[in-house]
Amino acid sequence: MTNPQLQEPSFRESVDLMFNRAVRLMDLSPGLENKIRVCNSTYTVRFGVRLRGKIETFTGYRSVHSEHMEPVKGGIRYALTVHQDEVEALAALMTYKCALVEAPFGGSKGGLCIDPRQWDDHELEQITRRFAYELIKRDLIHPAQNVPAPDMGTGEREMAWIADQYARMNTTDINAKACVTGKPPHAGGIQGRVEATGRGVQYALREFFRHPGDVAAAHLSGILAGKRVVVQGLGNVGYHAAKFLSEEDGCKITGIIERDGALVDEDGLNVEEVKAWTQAHGGVKGFPGATWVEDGASVLEADCDILIPAAMEGVIHRGNADRISAPLIIEAANGPITFGADEILRKKGTVIIPDMYANAGGVTVSYFEWVKNLSHIRFGRMQRRAEEARSRLLVEELERLSADKGLGWTLAADFKDKFLRGDDELALVRSGLDDTMRTAYQSMREVWHGRDDVEDLRTAAYIVAISRVAQTYRSKGL
Ligand code: NAD
Repeated sequence: MTNPQLQEPSFRESVDLMFNRAVRLMDLSPGLENKIRVCNSTYTVRFGVRLRGKIETFTGYRSVHSEHMEPVKGGIRYALTVHQDEVEALAALMTYKCALVEAPFGGSKGGLCIDPRQWDDHELEQITRRFAYELIKRDLIHPAQNVPAPDMGTGEREMAWIADQYARMNTTDINAKACVTGKPPHAGGIQGRVEATGRGVQYALREFFRHPGDVAAAHLSGILAGKRVVVQGLGNVGYHAAKFLSEEDGCKITGIIERDGALVDEDGLNVEEVKAWTQAHGGVKGFPGATWVEDGASVLEADCDILIPAAMEGVIHRGNADRISAPLIIEAANGPITFGADEILRKKGTVIIPDMYANAGGVTVSYFEWVKNLSHIRFGRMQRRAEEARSRLLVEELERLSADKGLGWTLAADFKDKFLRGDDELALVRSGLDDTMRTAYQSMREVWHGRDDVEDLRTAAYIVAISRVAQTYRSKGL
């Protein structure tokens, strides 16, 4: 139980309850339903590393929820709160998320019980390599079987150490780089992976606002521009989502909640400046020109149009759900709303864009990175200049025709520039991500609006994901 006084189920129980709510509306055999629900295996490892003159013992997990497709995929988290229940919940969400966005993976998740801020870079490298060694030797990191990625407390640096550790232990594996995603581009990564989850949140909101009926269901109107947004967590996901929404879509970031409190400014916070401040001062407190609120969590309840919890699970629970005033919540974090809170919010008419869709940008671009690693060539390398040459032919022909016929046409310089530029890897990644987020939203939406018994996007998302997993199991003869 996360909070015994509030009788909240644990994170894993919450995911199962949401799963149960959806399968009740489906026609699955009880056997298949149970097979999909359960977590296949969780490996716990305890290992020692000699640090600062003594042996420190660490506990880590790698959980595999479903191997209906392989490799299985899911991030590795570094936090003191990591435990078995949490990795199993996150692994289950990965199964459903991959199915929803049609990334051909099963679901997995890993975690190390550690506060990364307590260790310096060299120590973290030793710990990470040792953890990776334990997982690699059991094929729990492997390009064809289990491919981790970054999550809370980890990033490009840790993924590069893991990739290198795998390569050292598998010197003849030509696909070694595909053993992990989220690597820096110089170490086999892909452009646009760091921003991918936040970018996906932006694309998800853009897609939501393309449907006036959906916007009205959230008691909102008009377009995304001008909407007041509160973000919790200015880490990888929250920072990129807030940055893109404010800089590119005209949203106003009226609240930013971090570990040490929250900043509030009705005129809109400058995300880059707040990020720079937190990096320099270790938190948001003291940021000039905005009101600092000591009880950061209370700002989740602030009046705004869109609430983006992007830090951790269970932050909206039975104890505060009633007081959440945002009519639209997009779950950038995994599991930020407990099952109990979800019921309260649904009754209030709050529209929730669920985690398994909202933060799927990360795994989507991880999928592209994995494909890139297996194909050993960067996206766009073969086509880019050929596309440019073809566009140039067209422009030159138009200009020649105009001159020949004395029409006096001139193409605007910036049109010509854009038209003549072939897509590089970053442009292709963003295009693939945008397409994925739009397509997945449509599939949820069809179920949400197409069935009288489906009241919300989360249940719709589960139904789409579970049917796809069930289909794979059936075609395997289960
Ligand atoms: P991160 O470690 O980069 O950032 C987390 C941020 O939240 C940090 O700035 C931290 O200070 C802040 N935070 C922690 N506890 C908080 C609290 N109680 N109140 C307010 N702020 C708090 O992690 P991340 O990668 O951005 O992941 C955040 C969430 O998004 C997690 O739920 C994760 O599972 C999910 N997610 C991440 C990715 C990814 O690609 N990184 C992909 C999908 C989902």
